[in-house]
Amino acid sequence: MLTEMPHAVIALLLSLSAAGPGGPWADAVYLNGDFYTLDPRAPHVEAVAILEGRFLRVGSREDVAGAIGPRTEVVDLGGAFVLPGLVDPHTHPSFEAEEPFHFEAGVPWDWLRRHRVFGRWLIPTRARRVGALADATRIISSYGITSFGDGCVEPEILPLWQELLRRRAPAQRAVFFVRALGPRRSPALRSAAQVVQIAGRQPLPDVRFGAKLWVDGYFWDQSAALDAPYQGARGRGGLTVAPAVLERLVGELDRAGFPIQAHAIGERGVGAALDAFEAARRGRAGPGPQHAVVHAHLVRPEDLPRFAALGVAASLDAYLAQPAVRDAVGRALGPARRERYLPFRALREAGALVGAHSDWASASMSPFLGMYVLVTRRSPGHPERGALGPGNAITLAQAIRAYTLDNARLLGMEREVGSIEPGKSADLAILDRDLLHAPLEALRDVRVRATVFRGRRVYDGAELPLRLARSERELVDLGNAH
Ligand SMILES: [Zn+2]
Repeated sequence: MLTEMPHAVIALLLSLSAAGPGGPWADAVYLNGDFYTLDPRAPHVEAVAILEGRFLRVGSREDVAGAIGPRTEVVDLGGAFVLPGLVDPHTHPSFEAEEPFHFEAGVPWDWLRRHRVFGRWLIPTRARRVGALADATRIISSYGITSFGDGCVEPEILPLWQELLRRRAPAQRAVFFVRALGPRRSPALRSAAQVVQIAGRQPLPDVRFGAKLWVDGYFWDQSAALDAPYQGARGRGGLTVAPAVLERLVGELDRAGFPIQAHAIGERGVGAALDAFEAARRGRAGPGPQHAVVHAHLVRPEDLPRFAALGVAASLDAYLAQPAVRDAVGRALGPARRERYLPFRALREAGALVGAHSDWASASMSPFLGMYVLVTRRSPGHPERGALGPGNAITLAQAIRAYTLDNARLLGMEREVGSIEPGKSADLAILDRDLLHAPLEALRDVRVRATVFRGRRVYDGAELPLRLARSERELVDLGNAH
């Protein structure tokens, strides 16, 4: 897909360099691209030079020509549009390797199907489970994603990751959020000391650890905590544990330095998560780790400014903000609450750091379908069905920023990733079209030509094996999560 540059052209480039050849020489130079850098000082550049996994130079051809030495790989991008490596702050690769204990636990078929557990690992061998993690990382790379947050990690999965990462170099960096508090059906608590122990026992390359906890449930089984009852019902869901227990756990994890992803979907759940973060903040002097409320499908208007005030981020499901989920959400919430569903814009306008995630395999992992939904609030498969809560649409530039710099900040990685500038990790998503100038509808068909992680091409645009491609395609118009 990408072409090596002929030596004659390289010689010409060398002659263009004002400084002339000289060190340090880059390991690789990518030329003739349309790099959208997310760096306000140089938003569009045409070339980058990479040394030891970091951007050495970023700018014009002339700017990088002096970094081309005898062993530099020179790649001609042929005008391709390039973004910084994308970031997905909440996805679930580790679920792919979980044992089918869910059968005993009475988890619904729907969940099994969505997570593709059923039929794949009725009797999973260790090799199959490691293979499932390897498959997940290939899917991640195929979307130009070079950093992610694993939204729930159990300790027994860590040796499998260790085995995979012993065999092959990491293709992404990650934050693994270890489950510290489960959902209502199995709310088993882990103390901060236990999470420290789990994280310390299994060091993994390019992995840092955080903690995941469930504050409430889901709309589909009416377990997410609302202020007023579900439509046509008397129940209004509930919190996983009492607020005092939640505050104690969040305080402990915060003091231990773990970034927390708190699952909260209903507005009462979101409020309880913010209360716990506020109590933790009162107990310390410095800024502390970057915590996030994950999902936040409904937020009370008076809670919107609390995110910015407390320095707590919100990570929302990009793909669900569309009419394919309208019927289910409308049935559960009624029309008024439905219009406030997934308040991307309201949170942004209240000053919050708002990230966008896939929650794969509950929905497609594609950041480009996610961007389409964020901007249009329409269903990628059925745009004619209209928009869901169009008042919460954001612009394309904001959506691209969400998947790069904002998601990087949300995972505490902004010094390392999220933009293309000298010194940052050389992570790139090389695309088949210019997102900024293509018609919006074209976002539905974006293909990644190559993905670069730490200067290494970890995906070369090849089609995924049919098995992986098909399962991913099935998720595109599913839209039935939560
Ligand atoms: Zn999740």
